Amino acid sequence: MQHNLLLRGGTVVDGTGAPAREVDVRVRNGLIAEIGAGLEAAARERVIDARGCYVTPGFIETHNHFDAPMWWTPTLDPMPGYGVTTSINGNCGFSAAPVSDDPEVRLEMVKIFSFFEDIPIKPFMDALPWDWRTWSEYKHSLQTRLKFPANIAAYTGHIAIRLAVMGMEAWDRVARPDEIAKMCRLLDDALGAGALGLSSNLLDHDSRDRAVPSLVADDAEFGALLDVLAKYPGTTFQVIVDSFMRMTAEASVERMARLCAPRNIRMQWVGVPTYAFQEKLRGPLFAQHERFKARGLDFWTGFHHLPATSSVSFLSSLVFAQSNNYVWHEIISAPTEEAKLALLEDPAWRACPSLLGASLATIAVQPSARAHPLRLGIRLRTGRRLTGRVCDPTRCLAPIRRACSVAARQRHPLHHGSEALAQEPRHLPRVVPRSTGDWQHQRFRRPRPDAVRCGRPC
Ligand SMILES: [Zn+2]
Repeated sequence: MQHNLLLRGGTVVDGTGAPAREVDVRVRNGLIAEIGAGLEAAARERVIDARGCYVTPGFIETHNHFDAPMWWTPTLDPMPGYGVTTSINGNCGFSAAPVSDDPEVRLEMVKIFSFFEDIPIKPFMDALPWDWRTWSEYKHSLQTRLKFPANIAAYTGHIAIRLAVMGMEAWDRVARPDEIAKMCRLLDDALGAGALGLSSNLLDHDSRDRAVPSLVADDAEFGALLDVLAKYPGTTFQVIVDSFMRMTAEASVERMARLCAPRNIRMQWVGVPTYAFQEKLRGPLFAQHERFKARGLDFWTGFHHLPATSSVSFLSSLVFAQSNNYVWHEIISAPTEEAKLALLEDPAWRACPSLLGASLATIAVQPSARAHPLRLGIRLRTGRRLTGRVCDPTRCLAPIRRACSVAARQRHPLHHGSEALAQEPRHLPRVVPRSTGDWQHQRFRRPRPDAVRCGRPC
């Protein structure tokens, strides 16, 4: 790789908030050696004409779920193409380590990834060597087997830890003291090996509407795990809370804040609801954010800095269950196209309160602006009927406009995310941009950059 470069004429955005400026940048032995206008090329220096391009530091992809796809796509596509130089995995309580010895329990963690992050189960099970049980062993395997074009950093997931210790009972009950002690040892192993921290999840319910194992954990368990985190300054407790379905975010954050503050734990929480249907939570969660700030707590509020788009199909989709609409999720769960069609035509099923409160009779399917066969959009239109219009309902993609309420979000100052950060820092003094996009949805073999972001909060 060429490490001595002169980038000429690019527009430098250095990430400090300084105005963009047209200057040259010299890189020597892989490090920036000089920044200035009209730099002369030195001997054995490759000159790159960067006119018309931005020259920036690498981007940190702060939230994705590449834990498994990186094993079969170690190029990390498409992230490097977007300038990502660091990818952060292990979010939302999900991680590939630690794992149980029991393959059935291991499959539970994989199924969680598959349902919530649309990661296909088969390559997850087949492409990973599974030559680890602990997080440190997982890291060792990763380092010895794979090379990446970007830095990888990761949390260890609370759900993974819980499943590794409690097996299938992790779904159903609080942990005993001996089990909590084992969890702490696993967390200690991960943090000692360099994990960013612990990620937990107080949001998700699975495809069968079961609360994920971290939602079953009591304060004794959280407290013990946070005690371990406290031993490792600089680590972070990340918690995903529910501002989507059961709207328990405020209480959950309060509970976690009570546990984190006295331990001086850095907490990252998802707390800026920008969708129209989250309107009622906006005030309380903003107030929480301000209270934490006023107290000087090391708490960081997450938000989407890009409008979320929803990829929806009747073959595989998070959105129906993730919008707490298990009626529509029955279509996803139906195993064959025939079964899906039969359900769609079934009068009993059609009588159910359906998609986003609209009855099926009010939904019509029309080609979207981009008339690709895979991009038929469901639009809610009073008086239009579904029958006869969905010639191939298994191939519909729906933007679910009412769920996303894009127009409402666009009016909100926080909607603009990183742009707002630069323009109006008073709005976002301690808010962390979440993600450049949820690229975890890339499929086995080929990424699908046109259909990869999901509508869920992460
Ligand atoms: Zn996530």
